[in-house]
Amino acid sequence: MAIQSINPSTGKLVKKFESYKNEKINELILKSNTAFQKWKNVSFDEKKKLMNNAAKYLRGNKLKLGETITIEMGKPIKQSISEVEKCAWVCEYYAENAESILRNEIVNTDARESYVQFDPLGIVLAVMPWNFPFWQVFRFAAPALMAGNVGLLKHASNVPQCSIEIEKVFIEAGFPENVFTNLLIESSQVKYVLENEKVKAATLTGSEYAGSVVAQTCGKLLKKTVLELGGSDPFIVLEDANLTEAAKTAVTARLINNGQSCIAAKRFIVVEKVFNEFTKLFVDEMKKIKIGDPLNEETDLGPIAREDLLYELESQVKKSVDAGAEILIGGEKINKEGFYFEPTIIANVDRSMPAYKEEIFGPVATLIKAKDENEAVQIANDSDFGLGASLWTNDLQKAKTLASKIESGSVFINGMVKSDPRLPFGGIKKSGYGRELSHYGIKEFVNIKTVWIK
Ligand code: NDP
Repeated sequence: MAIQSINPSTGKLVKKFESYKNEKINELILKSNTAFQKWKNVSFDEKKKLMNNAAKYLRGNKLKLGETITIEMGKPIKQSISEVEKCAWVCEYYAENAESILRNEIVNTDARESYVQFDPLGIVLAVMPWNFPFWQVFRFAAPALMAGNVGLLKHASNVPQCSIEIEKVFIEAGFPENVFTNLLIESSQVKYVLENEKVKAATLTGSEYAGSVVAQTCGKLLKKTVLELGGSDPFIVLEDANLTEAAKTAVTARLINNGQSCIAAKRFIVVEKVFNEFTKLFVDEMKKIKIGDPLNEETDLGPIAREDLLYELESQVKKSVDAGAEILIGGEKINKEGFYFEPTIIANVDRSMPAYKEEIFGPVATLIKAKDENEAVQIANDSDFGLGASLWTNDLQKAKTLASKIESGSVFINGMVKSDPRLPFGGIKKSGYGRELSHYGIKEFVNIKTVWIK
């Protein structure tokens, strides 16, 4: 895919970039490696100072950076600004906590002294998506850099200006040259980077396909990977739930980021007894959504990020309808410039339909009726994915029991699934493996080394 910014709210080309040639890639990897030799010995105090500078820069420039995000991928501006603020938070979190998380762990054994230490691995390549173009990068970079690694970024081809701005954050914060390096390359060049023996590991957030390609290459080369892939998160509503609150949250959980979030609620599984009541509230809430220019502060729902993704979404809805699904609201592309799709709810779906079994990346909710809570959990688990899940009930004891039965990397009870620097984030099944954030995330890209002294 050509590296270019196309404003999804107009469909017009904003800027085009040439991808780097192999010589430039080699040169940057060499520079990253030189940077690593020094960076790995830099004190936590110094790293902390620089990471806090990055946070300050992000907060100080959130309006400008937020605009860059919105113009490249169409997220409503309020959400773009919040995304930049969240990046500052993750920088501050790891600035504050990395040293204590990575402190040597003393273990009593038959040795005079034995302990575990956490050494950095070296150069880590991050292959990142466009949907949270800042957040996905910072949630990798803040822990990786604080652990003493250096980062290479291969960002999605439709957000090159974000990738340039992100590299600038680290430069402006005072990080040594090439501790964080942006590579303007296409996906076909990722293999070349991974094959360089100085690159030690990779993390990818994106589709199942891209994840498996990168994991295959890394498997062959015996390099560590962390994968954060798609999701088709269930949002389960039981009969004793607060339905008004559940319906309001359901709309936010589905439409956040124009419906293009891996942890968006996608399958709304509601028990029979409250199905009609919940459906009415859900449709009514959906009707309130303001669609339009994402740069307008009043907008709730902007365009889909790319034209090809809009057509993919349209085709998933159409195939589901052709197979017998019912549209309760929306269901169509919006006939205006840009890549807009109506907020949509689909009911009467079955296992054969894309709306049931595929990841739907757009403002389209799938509504499914379950006989009771056991069937609701069974439907929730009837998915190739296992990223997050949201469960609504006033019986917290029951909620905890059901949480243990749900196959996912997280369960949020009476709230929507969200990421938080303090909590681990990641999935099971085809949603990937490994964890980001918290103390688990920072330990993915370190050598957990045992030292034993007689
Ligand atoms: P991709 O998975 O294609 O893109 C994610 C990243 O992977 C980009 O940097 C992309 O680069 C890179 N990439 C793609 N193919 C390869 C490859 N063969 N080798 C190495 N790197 C590769 O996602 P799309 O943007 O095409 O979106 C398609 C679908 O993926 C969405 O509809 C959604 O279902 C899912 N998705 C999930 C995300 C999540 O948060 N889990 C995020 C984004 C997408 P380039 O852009 O240059 O192709």
